[in-house]
Amino acid sequence: MGLYTTEAVVVGYRDLGEADRILTLFSPERGKIHAVARGVRRPRSPLMAGTQLFSYSKFLLVEGRNLDSISQCELKESFFRIREDLDRMAYGSYFAELLRISTRESEKSEELFRFFMKVLYLLQVWEDLEFMARIFELKLMALQGYTPQLSHCVNCRNDELKEIRFSHALGGILCEKCRGSDEKSVVISRAVLMMMRRMLKGKFEDLAKLKVEDGVKEELKAVLTGFVLHHMERKPRTLRFLDDIAKISHK
Ligand SMILES: [Zn+2]
Repeated sequence: MGLYTTEAVVVGYRDLGEADRILTLFSPERGKIHAVARGVRRPRSPLMAGTQLFSYSKFLLVEGRNLDSISQCELKESFFRIREDLDRMAYGSYFAELLRISTRESEKSEELFRFFMKVLYLLQVWEDLEFMARIFELKLMALQGYTPQLSHCVNCRNDELKEIRFSHALGGILCEKCRGSDEKSVVISRAVLMMMRRMLKGKFEDLAKLKVEDGVKEELKAVLTGFVLHHMERKPRTLRFLDDIAKISHK
């Protein structure tokens, strides 16, 4: 049985038996890893601090036949501000779930790792979390190879657009003439198209200062959450919880 060390962020967990927990880690060198943390739910477990959701730690792991196990871990950044706040926790859980279901095991990606770490840093202080979620969805899809075509019609390359539609299935905008190529495409406003272009090109941290109107946010949600769901194997469980939170805060 081999030993290995890796830095990783905890992106998911489920309890196992009386005191154990199966963690989902995301590592720059090894991608997504499932590993058991034995006894972690016992008081004073040395593994407790470094294995909480969103903890970024250095892990010593033992390879197992079915599942690796965590031998030691050293906490580097706890991101406790996310776990302390219900809204930040809910959005963070959604981001982590999207990362989990859009990646395969052992598919390494330093770029994706750096992106997710940046998201966790920003999530501690970001004000408009709903808008942050839309940027996350768009940038995650782009990193996973599904950059939507936003500069011209995805079907005929026409860039003089009167009525603009977005097609989840075709992955981009459609002009009026081409609406028949995806009956499910939805009409979007010019403001939303402009905003999506900015979100795609802009740095995550620069977009934090933007003030986005509620109407634009609603449209962005229909377009981008729909786009993400189109590419996911299953619907994220955390999405319903987020919708409940949004309803409460909009009252
Ligand atoms: Zn067209």
